[in-house]
Amino acid sequence: MTTPTHLLLGLVIGKISILAGIHADPQVVYTLGAVSALIPDIDIVYYGLGVNHHQSLLHKPFVWFTGLLFVALYFIIMHETILLSYVIIFSLGVLSHFLLDMGNYTEGVRWLWPISRKSFHLFPLAKQAKQWKKRFTIFTHHPAFLFEGTILISSLFFIIFFNNP
Ligand SMILES: [Zn+2]
Repeated sequence: MTTPTHLLLGLVIGKISILAGIHADPQVVYTLGAVSALIPDIDIVYYGLGVNHHQSLLHKPFVWFTGLLFVALYFIIMHETILLSYVIIFSLGVLSHFLLDMGNYTEGVRWLWPISRKSFHLFPLAKQAKQWKKRFTIFTHHPAFLFEGTILISSLFFIIFFNNP
């Protein structure tokens, strides 16, 4: 899934959290939504752009949710309710990343790692081409393209037209 789609869905999570009446700074909520929805893809820094980076540790849900669970438990014990709500928003952002990545056209998500290496994907996977032009053609003719477009456009509409009360 591409960066703009992850980013927009992160902002949608921020907006829904605010609409749901979260008692927290809206700027922090939006920033957390955006950052968390993108953060598994920072493995691109290591792998480089255009390389299939979805097999790194940062694309293993287990790694994120185990870490976030410990942080959440700490804030529960310390009665830090606002910080806990930030962890929940962050977790939702990361979750949104993996749900969207299930719609990728070259790689799914290894939800059961480290128990299993099975990759979960919404559509049949295609081979990633080396050339950008060929890659673009394969992507635009794959169901993942329509899936991503639908999420991107509906997120954009939600952010622009669904105003806060
Ligand atoms: Zn990703």
